[in-house]
Amino acid sequence: MTASHTNAVRTRFAPSPTGYLHLGGARTALFSWAFARHFGGTFVLRIEDTDLERSTPEAVQAILDGMAWLGLDPDEGPFYQMRRMDRYREVIARMLDEGTAYRCYSTPAEVEAMRERARLIGAKPRYDGTWRPEPGKALPPVPPGARPVVRFRSPLEGATHWDDLVKGPISFDNAELDDLIIARPDGTPTYNFCVVVDDWDMRITHVIRGDDHVNNTPRQINILRALGAEPPRYGHVPMILGPDGEKLSKRHGAVSVMEYDALGYLPEAMVNYLARLGWSHGNDELFSREQFVEWFDPRNLSRSAAQWDPKKLNWVNAHAIRQSSNEDLAARVAPRIRRRGGDAAAIDLAAVMDLLKDRSETLEQLAEGAMLFCGPHQPADDTVRAEVLDAAARALIADFAARASGLPDWTEAALDALIKDMLQAHGVKMPKLAIPLRVAATGVKHTPSIGAVLALLGRETVLGRLTSVL
Ligand code: GLU
Repeated sequence: MTASHTNAVRTRFAPSPTGYLHLGGARTALFSWAFARHFGGTFVLRIEDTDLERSTPEAVQAILDGMAWLGLDPDEGPFYQMRRMDRYREVIARMLDEGTAYRCYSTPAEVEAMRERARLIGAKPRYDGTWRPEPGKALPPVPPGARPVVRFRSPLEGATHWDDLVKGPISFDNAELDDLIIARPDGTPTYNFCVVVDDWDMRITHVIRGDDHVNNTPRQINILRALGAEPPRYGHVPMILGPDGEKLSKRHGAVSVMEYDALGYLPEAMVNYLARLGWSHGNDELFSREQFVEWFDPRNLSRSAAQWDPKKLNWVNAHAIRQSSNEDLAARVAPRIRRRGGDAAAIDLAAVMDLLKDRSETLEQLAEGAMLFCGPHQPADDTVRAEVLDAAARALIADFAARASGLPDWTEAALDALIKDMLQAHGVKMPKLAIPLRVAATGVKHTPSIGAVLALLGRETVLGRLTSVL
């Protein structure tokens, strides 16, 4: 692309606000966003809210939240189709004037009968053009009181083709396309028509969307041409499949982007993972948002459906966790600890993150692990005590407590050194000392490195707990 062209790139994400932002929608948004960012263009957000029965303000908010969480900030919008009704009516009036659209008084029952007749002769069910004006053709008399729909006067011959950014050349015979209704009897515009007027008015140069829209594309191109507009380039991305090869759905687990926030995934990991679902840059699996933007090339969008892989997402998330600073993780995990009833105020949470980050795949796992330090202390139950804290173990704990109280520095290194000394002095192996210490100091048998755990808990807490089990 030349420089002047690259500056003009304008993409859009055009969700229908009928539910949360799902993974497929988020991925489409991500590709459109990256395309615009890569070429220094403009990313537009348009809310397609004309389906009044299914659109809700909560769904609009859920989409905005999901995009904000992923960091997909629009440069323009959100624009709401419901606020653009006057504009659609204006374009419909213009098309009626110019003869590229016409009023059709056929009743739904009549249209159904036409379709049925077509089916009987093995033809594609369609409107038969009764009200379509043609040179020299006399139209039926307008039924009194009837309210017409407005139909697009679709070309009858030839083909409509485009070079799809993802799928390559696609062609539809115009004979296959019906004279689409663009306005209902009450004058409200229909879905495909609003999309066309918006893409035109918003000067969209590249449309990236799900391939469930491929069949709409020739209709939209024809209407744009009838308006004298240059159609954008289209790229249709295949859907996301579940691990079982079926279309990804709730059956496969969480499908709302914000659920992944709740489950403890980092937005940068989601961006990384979603980007790789149907797009690639060589063999690169782990990359930053900046690298993704830099590398994004629509030619590397895959033609085949991508498969959701929760294990890989966890792997990407674990990597993002390891890449994060301890302070950043602490800030993200603190509210999750509070939600569990924990209190991180008395603890060096960043140090806890440092201890746990290599073994955690999600922020929720980090929070769970941090409860060892932030939750109310739960002494080991009787079974564990009976099993672990026998007389020999108690003797070890008593000696450890005595020596530990005299440590000049309460640090992991000092505690590790003390444990080593104790093993030598008592001639025991590590588990003989470490497990009783864990049970006495934390209430559980398994924890991260005992020296680190004791250091983080602090001298007073540790000595208090050791004394209370003795
Ligand atoms: N509103 C449509 C949807 O949510 C997308 C339309 C488009 O991208 O052209 O499926």
